[in-house]
Amino acid sequence: MCDTGKCDMWTWQLSRYDERVHAFTSDGRPASFVEAACSHSVPIDKIAKSHSGTRCLACLLIVGDHLAEHHRMGAGL
Ligand SMILES: [Zn+2]
Ligand SMILES: [Zn+2]
Repeated sequence: MCDTGKCDMWTWQLSRYDERVHAFTSDGRPASFVEAACSHSVPIDKIAKSHSGTRCLACLLIVGDHLAEHHRMGAGL
């Protein structure tokens, strides 16, 4: 559960541009480009339907920050 809805929007997918797995935001609308949490944007045909590989560090940090802030992970609650 997430009070911002961001967790539902992020999908980890492999970018063929840099061969990294980014947290892309998909809002369900058809688009020719998709943008990751780290602002890496990729044409839709460069996205591989895979989430195995090296994850983008910037995306990991952004998602990690979100988890810490909105999901109270490690807050002892
Ligand atoms: Zn969340
Ligand atoms: Zn990224």
